Amino acid sequence: MRLLVLSDIHANIDALDAVLAAAPRSTWDRLIVLGDFVGYGAAPNGVLDRVRLLDPLAVIRGNHDKAACGIDDGSSFNQIARYAAAWTGDALTPENRTYLRALPMGPVLVGDDLEICHGSPFDEDHYIFDSGDALQALEVTRRPLCLFGHTHLPVLFAKSTETLDLVVPEGNDPDTVVLLPGVRYLVNPGSVGQPRDGDPRAGFATYDSDTRTLQLRRAAYPVDAAQRRIIAAGLPASLANRLAIGR
Ligand code: ZN
Repeated sequence: MRLLVLSDIHANIDALDAVLAAAPRSTWDRLIVLGDFVGYGAAPNGVLDRVRLLDPLAVIRGNHDKAACGIDDGSSFNQIARYAAAWTGDALTPENRTYLRALPMGPVLVGDDLEICHGSPFDEDHYIFDSGDALQALEVTRRPLCLFGHTHLPVLFAKSTETLDLVVPEGNDPDTVVLLPGVRYLVNPGSVGQPRDGDPRAGFATYDSDTRTLQLRRAAYPVDAAQRRIIAAGLPASLANRLAIGR
């Protein structure tokens, strides 16, 4: 099965549409979303309507999804994130609010090969930044490939019995990895809607479970259009500015 993997869309419909144009519907079978559909960006309903139409195979909630729909009070957020969560909560249609409230907590197992989580497989809100976090995560994963998000940084950790390798993709479109038998993988596809690795292009991944081929990809999108929406919505200007530098 050919999967399209999206994470941290963050209500950025311009970035989502560019990803869907770069990975047309005919090139994948099912969609997987690793949480943070909303928060920061100005098109929460646009993003949720689009994703729901695509009938994802598996989805999980992110911390911003929880804050926007009232599962979490956002007290762990900084002031800007909390403001954006409240704005999003007010903007959501009843249907999309219900959808967010029903999103499952990760980790979720997807078939025999794959597991998905937002932050980490041991805590949905924990950030996996370094090899220490990755080792802790790989101790509890139950599938050879675990996909995660939350940090907005594309990365691949590969654990064999002997070694743990960390691979930071070079930003090629695509960066292709064929998964090896006997190796456990922990992979972040990066963020569709608010990349933070210095590359403003939307990050996403595709995974072919038959050939075990993973592609980390980037898609340029009209950043200025997303910025205009954020400003027009009255959201903090810093949320618009950061999109241009990918931080
Ligand atoms: Zn996020």
